[in-house]
Amino acid sequence: MFWRRKPDEASEAPEAAERPDSPPAVPEPPPAEPVGALARAAAFKPLFAEADEDIEVAFEQGLERTRDGFMSRLRGALAAGPDGPAWDDVEETLIAGDVGAALAMDVVEEARKRRDPDGAEAAVRSVLQGLLVPRVGHWEPRATTPGQPAVVLVVGVNGTGKTTTIGKLATRYTHEGRTVLLAAADTFRAAAIDQLLIWADRAGVQVVSHAPGADPGAVVYDALDAAVARNADIVIADTAGRLHTKSNLMDELTKIRRVVDKRLPGAQPETLFVLDATTGQNGLQQAQAFHAAVGLTGIVLTKLDSTAKGGIVFAIEHDLQVPVRFAGVGEQASDLLPFDPDAFVEALFA
Ligand code: GDP
Repeated sequence: MFWRRKPDEASEAPEAAERPDSPPAVPEPPPAEPVGALARAAAFKPLFAEADEDIEVAFEQGLERTRDGFMSRLRGALAAGPDGPAWDDVEETLIAGDVGAALAMDVVEEARKRRDPDGAEAAVRSVLQGLLVPRVGHWEPRATTPGQPAVVLVVGVNGTGKTTTIGKLATRYTHEGRTVLLAAADTFRAAAIDQLLIWADRAGVQVVSHAPGADPGAVVYDALDAAVARNADIVIADTAGRLHTKSNLMDELTKIRRVVDKRLPGAQPETLFVLDATTGQNGLQQAQAFHAAVGLTGIVLTKLDSTAKGGIVFAIEHDLQVPVRFAGVGEQASDLLPFDPDAFVEALFA
């Protein structure tokens, strides 16, 4: 087992002085006040949106493209003409927005039936909202047994944003004062280990990794051992993401799951599926395959900022009855929003 923290070259990076383990030798000058766009960003987008109103603002910004594309078309179709809303167009728009054909039909049928006194838009909005899994408050990784770490397994197809999401989560929880340890269990790709190390370095967290090609289950086992020994609060494991049709990938994930059960009986790991929002209904099929194999408990929807769609949120929650926990709205560490169904729908219809 290797304990790997920071790549050597990182010690020469300009931000090295900011790290807690390398205090500056001389007092630093006060930071310059942000100006222009930076100041606006600081005002409107706190590093981690926590308060409901911050999340709403961040969603509104992150969903700009969705609102301008999918939603403005939906609005157009819903706006009552002389003969009422153009329901066929509404259905087509929902399909184009990744809601899925069968579900789009059901949504339209239900919305029409309701004859909402507030109008067709209000009806569609409330039908869509009703597709989302109800939840209370924001999700947090929690240990089921006191003194044990909370375990988060991150699964999904390569390229969807797994590593980036892990980096964002590590940054978030470290920021909250929790000790995070990463397990580099995507041993299939050497680059995946390296990339995880880069994010770990940025977040200032430790990584347990083995050599490329090693047994992913062994990496997870060692990471759990290390987390217990070091009193870490959260272990987040990266996993391989070759195509979901490969049954050996699913076997590997099942094995990792068994390793967690063996090392931390009763731990109930959170299994987060990372879904690239730009892949639409294909992504939904991936999610179904992963859910059947390992039982997903949450979803992270990435790249919501870079698609004009967004209907996939309704499709996936309705289909799997698994809640979206976070939405990725950019490539920076802070571009991960706790998913709030009300804020999401509010931002879509804003
Ligand atoms: P992995 O192969 O699943 O680990 O995917 P990566 O984490 O390497 O991400 C693949 C690409 O997606 C990278 O270029 C990331 O910067 C980008 N990415 C990840 N999350 C987001 C997001 O929420 N928004 C945008 N715009 N890009 C993202």
